[in-house]
Order: sequence, then structure tokens, then C-alpha cells
Amino acid sequence: MKFNTKTIHGGQKIDPAFNSVMQPIYQTSTYAQQRPGINKGFEYSRTHNPTRTALQNSFASLENAKYGVAFSSGLAAIDAIVKLLSPGDEVISTNDLYGGTFRLFTKIFEKYGVKFHFTSLHNMTDVESLINENTKVIWAETPTNPMINIFDIEALSKISRSNNLLFVVDNTFASPYLQNPLNLGADMVMHSATKYLAGHSDVVLGALMLNDDKIAEKLYFIQNASGAVPGPQDCFLTLRGIKTLHVRMQRHCENALKVAHFLYNHEMVEKVYWPGLESHKNHKVAKKQMSDFGGMLSFRIKDFSKEQTINFLEKLHLFTLAESLGGVESLCGHPATMTHASIPKEEREKSGVTASLIRLSVGIEDADDLINDLKNAFL
Ligand SMILES: *Cc1c(COP(=O)(O)O)cnc(C)c1O
Repeated sequence: MKFNTKTIHGGQKIDPAFNSVMQPIYQTSTYAQQRPGINKGFEYSRTHNPTRTALQNSFASLENAKYGVAFSSGLAAIDAIVKLLSPGDEVISTNDLYGGTFRLFTKIFEKYGVKFHFTSLHNMTDVESLINENTKVIWAETPTNPMINIFDIEALSKISRSNNLLFVVDNTFASPYLQNPLNLGADMVMHSATKYLAGHSDVVLGALMLNDDKIAEKLYFIQNASGAVPGPQDCFLTLRGIKTLHVRMQRHCENALKVAHFLYNHEMVEKVYWPGLESHKNHKVAKKQMSDFGGMLSFRIKDFSKEQTINFLEKLHLFTLAESLGGVESLCGHPATMTHASIPKEEREKSGVTASLIRLSVGIEDADDLINDLKNAFL
């Protein structure tokens, strides 16, 4: 089955109860048992719920994985992965990391004795120099948020393999439409399904996709034991969103290309970070591992202070000032004071998140209208 068919049919079955074409919302916490332990495979909805099972099957299908695991948020999915570790274990990650992931790693798990290293994942020698006998996980995000760096998934997977590590890729920004890390050698894929997968800014949900039987069993155990499960309504909304993932993504990419070129050619713009531009420092890697370049971009306006940057954002009308990304509507954000405010200033600026940086989630409106909105804000 090709990707555009998988979004609609992948892992889906006609519901056996009434042959409903769409997966019903099984809004129930518990299931009648014939005798203790004799049931139709469902006992209690923290453990299993039919709507969630359908979503998990769709997740697996989208990333060519054997298993999909759904969580109540992207961060709950990440939390489950770190819970595979023990005190003393170490994780190597990027210093250009989603702020919430950084916060979860450093503010929650460091105190349980897990150690995190943040480095640029561009230089394989740097990555290898951090590996020791306690290293268990390489955690990559590509494209990154908000600097839109691209890391070479195949190169990292080789290092991970040869050192027997678990290599996880946060694939939220690309979506499975653009990039399938498992095919490139990753062990696990994580998604904030809140973003492109659900795609309509109406649900918070997380996903893990993987092939390893033993790790999958542990993750299903954590899913049930820790209990960060999504409700059936949210599973339904995510499944419905996924059915149009491919058509939405195609338009996100087309619009971002136009917006990126408009910004690139604007005299007031200092720099545009979009992997489809040949000027992007990782353009070649992006071309190798992604089928197109996505709807996320960041840019910096020449000599703008924090105040001027915020004024610019306030002048935009079609781009709504909001956290999050990946919905049908265009959003803009100021990473330094919004999504990345929890990262210490020095750390933040080292990775490029300065006061004049603006991040756009380019939606699927008409590209001309989006460009006009930006034009007016520059006036
Ligand atoms: C939003 C996001 C997360 C966290 O997901 P939630 O669904 O908000 O918990 C993790 N990684 C990336 C790249 C994100 O954009």
C-alpha cells in the first residue's frame, strides 16, 4: 500500500458491530465480561480501547512500523521512552531541542539520575566522543524546532547501531509524509500527533512507532501502568485528521516554498531557515532523507530588537500568534519568549534562538494571501 492510501486505510477495519465505515468513538471505560477473564479482548479502557487500537494501527502503518503506541500528549510519549531507562543511564541529544522535551529531560528526569548530554548532532565525532558504557539513547529531532536544522538520520543510526544504543527520532516537524526514520535506520519514531498528524489544532496527542517486540511490550506496559492514555474522542479526531494528511502536507510544502522565497528575497530579512532553500546549510541532507521540505520555517529580520519583532508579529492577521504548529491555519511565534522561554537565555542564543527570530507554521490557505499578510507587516 502506498502512503496516500495508508493515511485512509492503513491498519483500519470495518467495525464489526454495525459495519460502520468510520471507526466509532467507543466512549466507555469498561467492557462486560462473560466470565472473569473471558471477554472480547477489552477489559478496561486504560489498557485497551477499540478507538485507540484503530489509531495505534494507523500510526504503525504510517511509519512502516510493526507497533504504534498512543499517548495523551507528545510529551507523555517521550516520558514513556525515558521510563525505559534506569538511574545512571545516559542520553545524547541535540542542543536545538523542542523546549518541552528539554524541560522534561532536565527538570523531571535528571533528578531520577538519568543524565542528558546536549550537543550538535551534525558532527559525528562529537556524538561519538560522548558515548560511554552508560549511554543508552540517542535522541534526535529533525527538522529541529525552531532552527530547522536537519540531522543525518542514516549517519546517526550507524553510530547508534555500532554502539548498541536506542536511536529515537522526533519526527513531528516532518510528519510521516515527508520522512520515515525507521526506513533510515532509526529504532523508534516519536510524534506530537497534536501537530501535522491530527492537523486541525483541536487535539493534544502523542505517538510512538517501532518494530522491536521487546521494547514494544515494555512501552505498552508503561502506557497502561503510568496511564497517560488518550481518550477515545481524541483518538477519533486524530484518526480523522490522518485521513487528509497527504493532501494537507502537499499544500503545506507548496505554500512554504512560496513564503520562503518571498522572505529570502525581501531586503529586510537577514536569514531564512527552510531546508528547501539551497542556502540552507543542511539542504543536501534534507534532499536525501525527506521527500519535500515541509511547512515550518524560521527567519530573522535585520537589526530588529525584541520589541520590533513583537510589533511585526502583532501586525500579522492571517498568521495567528500562537504556540503549536502543523494545523491547517497559519501560525506565527516568537520562540525566545514563547516555545523556548524555558531554555536559559545563554543556551538558547547559542543555538540561534535570538530575539529577532520568528517561526512560521505555514498553513494551507492561499499562498498569495499569506504573502500579502507578511508584506503588510514589513511596511
Ligand atoms: C509539540 C511538540 C512536542 C510535544 O508534544 P505535545 O503534544 O505538545 O505534548 C514534542 N516535540 C516537538 C518537535 C513538538 O513540536
